[in-house]
Amino acid sequence: MNIYDIAYRFIEENKLDRDEYAFLIDRRNDEKLKSIITDEAVRRRKMYYGDKVFTRGLIEFTNICKNDCYYCGIRRSNSNADRYRMTEEEIIKCCENGYNLGFRTFVLQGGEDPFYTDEMIVRIVKSIKAEYPQCAVTLSIGEKSYESYKLYREAGADRYLLRHETADEAHYRTLHPEEMSLSNRKQCLYNLKELGYQVGAGFMVGSPGQTVENIAEDLCFLQELQPDMVGIGPFIPHSDTIFANEKSGDVELTLFLLSVIRVMIPDVLLPATTALGTVDPSGREKGILAGANVVMPNLSPVDNRKKYDLYDNKICTGEEAAECRGCLERRINSIGYRIVAERGDRQHTGTHKEEERIIT
Ligand code: SAH
Repeated sequence: MNIYDIAYRFIEENKLDRDEYAFLIDRRNDEKLKSIITDEAVRRRKMYYGDKVFTRGLIEFTNICKNDCYYCGIRRSNSNADRYRMTEEEIIKCCENGYNLGFRTFVLQGGEDPFYTDEMIVRIVKSIKAEYPQCAVTLSIGEKSYESYKLYREAGADRYLLRHETADEAHYRTLHPEEMSLSNRKQCLYNLKELGYQVGAGFMVGSPGQTVENIAEDLCFLQELQPDMVGIGPFIPHSDTIFANEKSGDVELTLFLLSVIRVMIPDVLLPATTALGTVDPSGREKGILAGANVVMPNLSPVDNRKKYDLYDNKICTGEEAAECRGCLERRINSIGYRIVAERGDRQHTGTHKEEERIIT
């Protein structure tokens, strides 16, 4: 079958099978194909979100982790990592600062750090929600039991980010130690969905050993899960990992995949990630122009920024939150979009037909 016919059918039906996704990715450098997919992605993005870009204030509150993911700079066996934990008060202080800068979503992300018991997470979520009831709280603290997720949800957490990392079993094994499992990670995502969270999955583009077929599998998994948010960004090597000498993920491929995901789930919340901004100085702007509609600047205290060191040369580790906010605002304005002070929930409409959708 002709690649353009496949692309048009994708646009019509919002889905393809694994081999067709692989074919699409294989042909991503075909200019005509690229513009068919990207133009449709931008059209859908505008249909749902207009020129709005939502911001999430990211608070990286601990870099201590009990896991040992081979690609990650803060994995437990990296003895060079300079470890830190933020107190509950420090976390709340970040939210206060963020609120004053116009953030209406706070993302608490960290390593899987057992120091923060369920009781503490519940307390933190409750205090943020009590102080800022109009804001959304997103957690991104890894794999927990159904019961723990339930407690956080009852405390008021609205969203949860848990990238699946790779949907292929064999590839998963090359990136993670024996004690971790893909099936558990996927189960966590289904549990989170069942508990009524807005759920984010995702993967790294160009992680070591990743094939076109693996990415096709990732897309099939997203198609099945139908997450509210999808986080993808290029893999970037960290010098203290076994992948220190691997190549970074490809910018063009990441941009193409952002567009594909926007077409697949038209109203998805899709960040232009910090990793994308790290491999290309205008990566985040390019991400927005490819169909992304979210940016996640850092609200963590500058002292900690460098220490949340997932990969080498991470950007925005030196500036205060206010400077980051200003810088991003200028970047987003320069490409004809605007940052808004809104919670930025997913626009649930169940349709992507233009005539049935009105932007408010
Ligand atoms: N502990 C949490 C948060 C992980 S950090 C959890 O397990 O979900 C957030 C994301 O950073 C990860 O999901 C991973 O996809 C990404 N990441 C980690 N190491 C990276 C690297 N070397 N390059 C690019 N992205 C990386």
